[in-house]
Amino acid sequence: MDVSVKFLGATQIVTGSKYLLNIDNYRILVDCGLFQGKKEDRIKNWNPFPIDPATIDVILLTHAHIDHIGYLPRLCKQGFQGTIFCTEASKDLIPMMLKDAAKLQEEEAEYAEHKHYSKHEKPQPLYNLKDVETVIPLLEGIPFEKKTVLTEQISFCYQYAGHILGAGILELFLQGSRMDKKIVFSGDLGRHNDPVLYPPKKIAEADFLFVESTYGNRDLTDEDPKKELAKIINEALHYNGCVLIPAFALGRTQAILYYLKQLFKEHKISPCKVFIDSPMAMNTTEIYTKNKDLCKASLFEYGESPFDFDNLQYCHTQQASIQINDIKSNAIIISASGMATGGRILHHLFHRLPRENDTVLFVGYQGEGTRGRRILEGEAEVRIFGEFVPVKCKVTKLDGLSAHADCEELFDWLSAFNKSPKNTFIVHGEKESSEALAQTIQEKLGWNTFIPQYLESYQLFEGI
Ligand SMILES: [Zn+2]
Repeated sequence: MDVSVKFLGATQIVTGSKYLLNIDNYRILVDCGLFQGKKEDRIKNWNPFPIDPATIDVILLTHAHIDHIGYLPRLCKQGFQGTIFCTEASKDLIPMMLKDAAKLQEEEAEYAEHKHYSKHEKPQPLYNLKDVETVIPLLEGIPFEKKTVLTEQISFCYQYAGHILGAGILELFLQGSRMDKKIVFSGDLGRHNDPVLYPPKKIAEADFLFVESTYGNRDLTDEDPKKELAKIINEALHYNGCVLIPAFALGRTQAILYYLKQLFKEHKISPCKVFIDSPMAMNTTEIYTKNKDLCKASLFEYGESPFDFDNLQYCHTQQASIQINDIKSNAIIISASGMATGGRILHHLFHRLPRENDTVLFVGYQGEGTRGRRILEGEAEVRIFGEFVPVKCKVTKLDGLSAHADCEELFDWLSAFNKSPKNTFIVHGEKESSEALAQTIQEKLGWNTFIPQYLESYQLFEGI
């Protein structure tokens, strides 16, 4: 058996996760993510796929974030017809995530046409809702820890990753004619202290390891995120403004709701209205409740939803969303997308960035080149809907709510391996993060590491 890998994304960046495994004549694509952020990366979504998608046998997904699944409709459009495996909870989440992505792209294309800010006469979306419909029947959900056989020689298994609901670490088992081998993909790893999910499962061995490095160069704060959140909200409300939280509908929104419910209950923050302006956040919360076995048992012990409270209001319509712009003080608004790359958060930012009394609170990772990153880095104005909007509000962030393991937690997870992998590929991190993690691994564990380049290939096994 010969095995090689080709890196089709998430190389020295955090988006576009795609790894193509050639196992003799069998082709597996691990993750099928969309490139987001910088234009030079996003353009890759439009290029023809580097290999013929019809020749891929199966796709194995680690979790339902768009940078891991968002290219699926495009791949199916170009001829992929195989099975797409994921965990059962991911299967619940993926249709909603892809439909939302398609809608955002259709809206963006329409808007660009309307406002003439695209170079193209008639800007096209990357894919539409109809394209998403071709993906859904191909999805097959697998329970955690269940070994699934692909061929006589190849099987796989998902282990709990704790990053978002349904996120899995992927173990791939190869039965060669001479020896057995194992490849592990960490996917995105969660934190040790996530309020909703358990910590990532430790893995004992791998011949080759692919590990994410989003926070490979950073230790996040040890401050209790609940306390920090209370402090930021109380300060913001004291300024007589509103708090705007750009948050991924999937994952971070549930964590914030959980904390807010506790804080209101404990009278740690003054009473105020909370708006969830994301239809997807509502659906996600339902899917979390449906899969409560995957959430911390303590969350549901009193029989009530950990994500719901009296002063919480969902905006079901666009009109309700627009009405929030009139609220000048004493409200918390949570909207998506989390990196302000699209969605309803844009019109909130458009209105609130110039308001001195308001606070924009970032609670998740802000990718390079995203609008969120530019606001967080203190740019005086940002472009929204083709217009330059001055940033006069307060801008702050809460690190402890990130869905990604920090440097120390990554190292802790890696330390659990009982022998060094033959090589460890550092992926899903910006250049500095990947390099920092590689250095930590080499120095402290003495392992071989490799930071791949886009489209690079690597021979894993020969004649096993
Ligand atoms: Zn993720």
